Amino acid sequence: MDADPSAFSIANSVPLICSKKLASEFGFSINRRAPQKSIDDSGKPLICERVKSALRGSWPAFTLRSSDLCRLAGFWGLVRLKVENLSTRCCIVGAGPCGLMLGLLLARAGVDVIVLEKHADFLRDFRGDSIHPSTLEVMSELGLLDELLKLPHQKELTQSAYFSGREYPFADFTRLPTRCKFIALMPQWDFLNFLAERGKSYPSFRLLMRTEAVEVREKNGRVAGVCAKTAEGPVEVRADLTVACDGRHSIIRARAGLIARDLGAPMDILWFRLRKTSIDPGKSFARFDAGRILVAIAREDYWQCAFHIAKGSSDEIRRNGLPAFRQSLARLVPEFADRLDELEDWEQIKLLTVILDRLDCWHRPGLLCIGDAAHAMSPLGGVGVNLAIQDAVAAANILWEPLQSRMVQSDHLRRLQKRRMFPTRATQRLQAFLHNRLIHPVLSASASPKVPPLLQLMSRFPALRRVEARLIALGFRPEHVRTPASAAETISVLRSGCS
Ligand SMILES: Cc1cc2nc3c(=O)[nH]c(=O)nc-3n(C[C@H](O)[C@H](O)[C@H](O)COP(=O)(O)OP(=O)(O)OC[C@H]3O[C@@H](n4cnc5c(N)ncnc54)[C@H](O)[C@@H]3O)c2cc1C
Repeated sequence: MDADPSAFSIANSVPLICSKKLASEFGFSINRRAPQKSIDDSGKPLICERVKSALRGSWPAFTLRSSDLCRLAGFWGLVRLKVENLSTRCCIVGAGPCGLMLGLLLARAGVDVIVLEKHADFLRDFRGDSIHPSTLEVMSELGLLDELLKLPHQKELTQSAYFSGREYPFADFTRLPTRCKFIALMPQWDFLNFLAERGKSYPSFRLLMRTEAVEVREKNGRVAGVCAKTAEGPVEVRADLTVACDGRHSIIRARAGLIARDLGAPMDILWFRLRKTSIDPGKSFARFDAGRILVAIAREDYWQCAFHIAKGSSDEIRRNGLPAFRQSLARLVPEFADRLDELEDWEQIKLLTVILDRLDCWHRPGLLCIGDAAHAMSPLGGVGVNLAIQDAVAAANILWEPLQSRMVQSDHLRRLQKRRMFPTRATQRLQAFLHNRLIHPVLSASASPKVPPLLQLMSRFPALRRVEARLIALGFRPEHVRTPASAAETISVLRSGCS
């Protein structure tokens, strides 16, 4: 690993202005020399210099060493000023599916990476539990599939829609040309923990939890890393390349001045769980009726339900009250009527504001956006996680070598965008088509909606169901792992063999 020697060192020259009297009262050493460095990396005067010049003449300026500051902070118990300077080849912001997969692949190829995650763990609200065959194929290429599938999961072999009580099967995964001919349903936190643990087995992988990136560092017009905050104080990460994998509300994207184009979506979703009984059907389904759509995903002992509502109508639904909401559900899915009183509080029902958007340009010098940070997907088809993983695989394939040789150029970032723009745009077009032709007509209908002709055809012709399954399961341009396994891989395998 070519880690920078300054990694993990505490910056030991944090200047502060303070009066001589105040300093001597607290017993601090006073350094009368002006700080040697008066400008920062971007050529601007250091904050202390700017404050000093403002106060010059009326307030004596002295600098304190960081050890003094720590004592001062400890004495007051108010602020903790421990600035850590880290440096790496690639700083990945966000440990979602995209960030962790990219970190794992780069570290496996021997590239030094730091992944920042603002949360303390991965145990968060439901954010999509589907792992599609394209991702399972990637796990197989990494030799991790059997281990992953030891974790509790369910297998989804087919998908169906119901109109007026009649079943219309539309996807059949059992004939896919992949090792896994099913969608694996697994809590996202189990999948993320799995990726994080595998990543940690490589010496060049560092995952910093509870570390929230708040700003990008710029140097000579190039993004040169990020500033982050932690419970212990600020951290600055210098990096040859920063990759924003911080999701659909990406702060890094915003700070870098990149703005996503909103493509519009006609619906929002209310997510909640309902108990599953032994007499329930075993497989997931989607039920359509005038003004209402429910997608119920079959889990081990519960149904993960996605109730589709017209965009922006959640406040009105809440105002109408829970009894009205339960009645509306009971009319759509009478077989769930016996357990709807489990929904006692709006706290159990989470709103997902559906966003379909995309960046026109995914990069700036020194910065790349991928996953939801580059394109938020509609939940239709449950493809968000898998697209994010595919972006990560493509990014690792294209960037591992330039990162290794410290030669990442805008051309590499352009190549990556070009490769991933086609599947992103094609998937979003398909989703927008379904929004306009299926979701919007059903949500705005006042009488039983008509079955879309395409759905009728798919339910009649099994070959069409296989085509649809391929689109959902593999997407438009499935990626394959081309990154090498460095010597670190051998060590990691040996380690896991010994444990
Ligand atoms: C309610 C819901 C249901 C969904 N259902 C499905 C589904 O069924 N199937 C599917 O495929 N997709 C689903 N999705 C979409 C899916 O979750 C995303 O497409 C996918 O997770 C994108 O992965 P990502 O790694 O790009 O971003 P994210 O998964 O959003 O990960 C971003 C990570 O960055 C972290 N982060 C954010 N800001 C910072 C910061 N400043 N500093 C450090 N860390 C930061 C976040 O904590 C998070 O861990 C759903 C999403 C939601 C919200």
